[in-house]
This record gives sequence, C-alpha cells and structure tokens, in this order.
Amino acid sequence: MYQTSRPRGDSPVSIIGAGIAGAWQALLFAQAGHTVTLHERSDAVMTDATSHWAGGMLAPWCEAEVAEPIISRLGLRSLDLWRAELPDTPFNGSLVVAHARERADFERFAKMTSEHRRLDANNLAELEPSLDGRFRDALFFPGEGHVEPRRVLPKLHERIVAAGGTIRFNSEVDIDNLYGIVIDCRGLGARDVEGELRGVKGEMILIETAEVQLARPVRLIHPRWPLYVIPRENNLFMLGATSIETEDTGVSVRSALELLSAAYTVHPAFGEARILEFGSGLRPAFPDNLPRITIRDGRIAVNGLYRHGFLLAPALAELTLGYVECGQIDNEVMQCA
Ligand SMILES: Cc1cc2nc3c(=O)[nH]c(=O)nc-3n(C[C@H](O)[C@H](O)[C@H](O)COP(=O)(O)OP(=O)(O)OC[C@H]3O[C@@H](n4cnc5c(N)ncnc54)[C@H](O)[C@@H]3O)c2cc1C
Repeated sequence: MYQTSRPRGDSPVSIIGAGIAGAWQALLFAQAGHTVTLHERSDAVMTDATSHWAGGMLAPWCEAEVAEPIISRLGLRSLDLWRAELPDTPFNGSLVVAHARERADFERFAKMTSEHRRLDANNLAELEPSLDGRFRDALFFPGEGHVEPRRVLPKLHERIVAAGGTIRFNSEVDIDNLYGIVIDCRGLGARDVEGELRGVKGEMILIETAEVQLARPVRLIHPRWPLYVIPRENNLFMLGATSIETEDTGVSVRSALELLSAAYTVHPAFGEARILEFGSGLRPAFPDNLPRITIRDGRIAVNGLYRHGFLLAPALAELTLGYVECGQIDNEVMQCA
C-alpha cells in the first residue's frame, strides 16, 4: 500500500447501488462524517440486487479452497468489521461434510484450507445434534460466520440513516449527472463503463422444516452437486448454490433436482420440507473473478465481488475511505484507469 496525493477533501459523496457493496460504502463514509446520499433504483425489498439472493456466508477459510489469497486477506479484515458493526452476527463457524465415497475430495478440501478442526461423529453430533449418525467426520471452521442477506441489508440501511446518511430508493441515477465524490456500486448495472463484467448465475432454493435444526452453514462436498445448507430464522433453510456461466435468470429443473437431492442426502428430513422459493442471482464478475476498485475520471467504482460480496464489502469500503481521506492505494485491489 502506498499513498497518493489526497483527493477532493470534503465534497458530498454519492453512492449508486444499495446492494452489499454500496451499503457498506455508505455506512463507513457516513460514520466518518461525510455527507452521503445512497441511490438505489429498486425499492427497499431490493429483489433486483444480486445481494438479495445470496447465501451470506462469511467464510474466508472455506473459500480458500478455490479463491486467491487476496480473498482471504480482505475477508479476514471484513470479519472484524462485521463483528464491530453488528455484534449479533452469528459467528458459529461452518461445517464441511462428505459421504464416504467422496473421501478423496474431502481430504483434498482439508489440505487446501486451514483454520479447521477435524470432528469425529460424536463431536459432530454434539455440535449439530440433527447430524447425529449422518457423517463419519467433519471439518469445523470455528472462526467463520454468516448473515441473512434479507435481514442484514435493511439493518445496514438503518445504520446508514442513523449515521446521518440519506437513502433514495426508486432512484435510478445517471452517473454523469452526479457531482462531488461518486462511488459506483451498480454491480452488473455498471456494464456501460465496465465492459469486461459478466454475470455468473447462482440458483438457490428456500425451504422450511422444523425437523432439522442447524446453528451454522453446512457444506457438502460432492463432485457434481456441491451444496451448502444455511440455516435462517423461523425454521427456514437456504439451499445453494449453482455456479453457471449464463445470464439467464431462470431456475432449471436439473439445478432444482441436484440441490434438493444433495440436501436430502445431508438429512432425509429435508425430503419432507416445504419449498417456499426458487430463485437466482447473477454474480458480477471480472475475467479473473477478483474484486476491483477502479479510479477513473475522478470517479470510484467498486465491482466484481463475484461470489464474495458479503465477505468482502466491508474491507473494500474501508479501502475506498482510506483512498478518499488519505490518498492510500492498495495495489492488489485498486486500479487507476
Ligand atoms: C445464489 C448466490 C449465493 C451467494 N452466496 C454468497 C455468500 O454466501 N457469501 C458472499 O460473500 N457472497 C455470496 N454471493 C455473492 C454476492 O451476492 C455478490 O457478490 C454481491 O451481492 C454483489 O453485490 P453488489 O452490491 O456488487 O451488487 P448488487 O447486489 O447487484 O447491487 C447493485 C445495486 O445497484 C443498483 N443499481 C444498478 N444500476 C443503478 C442505477 N443506475 N441507479 C441506482 N441503482 C442502480 C441495483 O438495483 C442493485 O440493487 C452469492 C450470490 C448468489 C447469486
């Protein structure tokens, strides 16, 4: 990290997009005393945002299996920021399990990741009684957390207002009509300026059952149907997520069968659960699947959060604030175009 000359002092800050990226930017800037307006083109339910469809796992160590080290670096910082801002965020850890025939893949996952403990069947049953007798062993990542996106986004929006910021829903703005400090967090809506962005479809299913209780996300290793089950309030569970290189937003029969079948193998009681919702979101991604903060024509763009928006948004907001207030540049994430 090095320092550049300090940009534009105390101009008002306009942030476009109230998904997880824009919400954290608005929060940290408002708390730092800036005059913040957050513009969101959809209403407060935010079904247009990818963030609405997300799992909300805060899992820097599990993600290290497939992600670059930068994801863990920013993710670890974000965990501290989530803890500080919303101390009731559940940090119950996460579990990784596999059926006997996926032993080799399970051992590979264990090798590729760190900060986990191996649990035998008894330890697993103590931690998650519903999984008693279901798996021979498990990996437990005690430092990981999870949030419920549809509850946490409104909480962040409330905190922005409490810190003195303004949020305008149903406000589709043209970036060229904004003055002062402009932070573009439009996700896939920013393709007019970010030609390389693509959407990677993630399908999810919401189910309800009182027959299974879980306190933390459970990932099932599977060569064709990798799955996670995330507990939500009121006996709800999110099953997710596919990762498909398409911008079609439908949920296919194949994906539904695979997610539901995999959940059934985690616990047969999921077979009796009620299906409440099928849905999908498009993850905004650059070709390298890494996040970018781009400084271009005096504007700042935060995008490409791909499958890690909830994990990365707080740390990215801190970096942007550091740039605006002190001219700091993080070479791994920031590009001056
Ligand atoms: C199924 C699924 C599961 C996922 N699970 C996880 C997970 O467990 N953990 C994790 O960290 N990440 C997860 N992700 C990834 C995460 O959801 C994304 O990285 C994140 O939502 C991207 O956030 P964003 O704020 O950049 O974009 P968005 O959430 O899409 O927000 C952009 C906002 O900008 C608004 N907008 C666009 N144009 C304009 C305009 N002109 N004016 C005003 N507003 C505008 C849009 O309406 C939208 O609300 C998951 C994604 C999917 C699809």
